[in-house]
Amino acid sequence: MSKRKYKLKTWPKVLLVILIIVVVGSIAGYKKYQEYKYTQTYEYKLLQKYNEADTKIFLEHLTNEELDDLLSRDYNEFISHFVTCKYFMYKNLDIYLTKVISQSQDFFKYHGTDGYDYDNIVALVNTHNNEDYYVGGYKTDFSKGNGIIANKYYELGMDYIPENLVDVPITHRYSDRVQLTQEAYDAYMEMWNAAHDEEDIYLILASGYRSAKEQKQVYDEYDKSYGTEFADNVAARPGYSEHQTGLAIDVYSKECASAKTFKDSKTYAWLINNSYKYGFILRYPENKKSLTGYNYESWHYRYLGKDLAKKVHDSGLTYDEYYAYYLEK
Ligand SMILES: [Zn+2]
Repeated sequence: MSKRKYKLKTWPKVLLVILIIVVVGSIAGYKKYQEYKYTQTYEYKLLQKYNEADTKIFLEHLTNEELDDLLSRDYNEFISHFVTCKYFMYKNLDIYLTKVISQSQDFFKYHGTDGYDYDNIVALVNTHNNEDYYVGGYKTDFSKGNGIIANKYYELGMDYIPENLVDVPITHRYSDRVQLTQEAYDAYMEMWNAAHDEEDIYLILASGYRSAKEQKQVYDEYDKSYGTEFADNVAARPGYSEHQTGLAIDVYSKECASAKTFKDSKTYAWLINNSYKYGFILRYPENKKSLTGYNYESWHYRYLGKDLAKKVHDSGLTYDEYYAYYLEK
């Protein structure tokens, strides 16, 4: 065998060895790269703190920005419970967690729940009901039009007077004077006609727009006679009443004009099933005082416009909850 021949035979072997080294090296490198890439994912980072089930929940429900914030926090066993609540709002996370920690306090007893009722905590916090009434300093956002909110947290202010108030004629009211915004009045008359045509119901208004000044008289009278606690239970403080929007009505019928029995009347049954079609919703439903701030008022309806009223009706939420989750954020 000549030297030259030996060389010719060796070259392919050498090449093969180099090729193997390159291929194996590349695979290893690629694997390492993939591993590195995985360590940069949210999944990997979350798994360093949370179990697989929680990690899956976070990845499904949170935005990248929220995940970044979550990763900057210490581990907390309660977060995943809140994240899966239907009306969870990330911006309120700290307050939800504070409420869990303080769950042994009177807060939960006051709101009729004990233990970790996550959905309830979410609803209470979203609507500010973890705070005392009238102290938060939240102003009504008037850009919401017919959807403006007024409750024990959101203040219309003493000076707010809605535009386009019209007088309701004597045939449709029992009080000396009832006013509504033109749009709310037109919608009310459409509802009036429907109730009359369908069920022979003769709706009649007890109250509509109330100025902040009138509200002050009402409130002060209760306050003077029965004390602040009583007054706060039955009347809004001036500047906070929904009646000041010109979009709220207290409505009864010729058949029934009693606040006590109205909830059992044919009129109420019709309103509950139909008022949203004309833009009105029951504003203070039964057993929702912890969210609305008011006892059940079967006669008090709020005009929101047809589209919004249908959405609120279909959601099954109080307007306070709906506003917080869908309109405010
Ligand atoms: Zn009312």
